[in-house]
Amino acid sequence: MPIKSRIRTIPHFPKYGIQYRDITTLLKDPLGLRLVVYELFKRYTGQKIDKIAAIESRGFIIAAPLAVQLGVGLVPIRKPGKLPGEKVGHDYQLEYGSDRLELHSDAIESGEKVLLVDDLLATGGTALAGIHLIEKLGGALVECAFVVDLPDVGGRRRLEGEGYSVFALCEFE
Ligand code: 5GP
Repeated sequence: MPIKSRIRTIPHFPKYGIQYRDITTLLKDPLGLRLVVYELFKRYTGQKIDKIAAIESRGFIIAAPLAVQLGVGLVPIRKPGKLPGEKVGHDYQLEYGSDRLELHSDAIESGEKVLLVDDLLATGGTALAGIHLIEKLGGALVECAFVVDLPDVGGRRRLEGEGYSVFALCEFE
């Protein structure tokens, strides 16, 4: 699989026991990002999508060229304290501790169809927080799109169990 084979695995990052899937090797390849954008464009072109919501920070890299290709707007979902305007936030649990994501209150109009984009799906906590923010503003999720899914970690099961659609370009065990 041309996308999967361009992703490097770094053992024990950011801590011992974690196999980190590093997309920088995909991005540095002259064809890598083009392939990702082409495959995602093929899936979503012709679908009713008003906006892409991209999750900081690797999600931005994938989402921006896709938004250009699809001819739709992009709204950033960011870590706390980064967005300058009025915003909504959602706190979520991590294995140890908690985290928070934020979205500008005027980023999405009620009823708009929104595609959520990030680089990788693991537990699904980050994507679910993004979905909560989209829904808080009245947006309707079209699908969550990822470059990588780690099915053994259970994020896809969790998202699909809550009725959300998931698409990923490759999987790592
Ligand atoms: P989740 O919330 O699904 O457990 O974790 C997904 C989030 O953590 C994504 O925003 C993703 O960028 C980041 N992440 C977790 N593990 C990895 C990994 O192995 N590689 C990369 N590139 N990102 C990861």
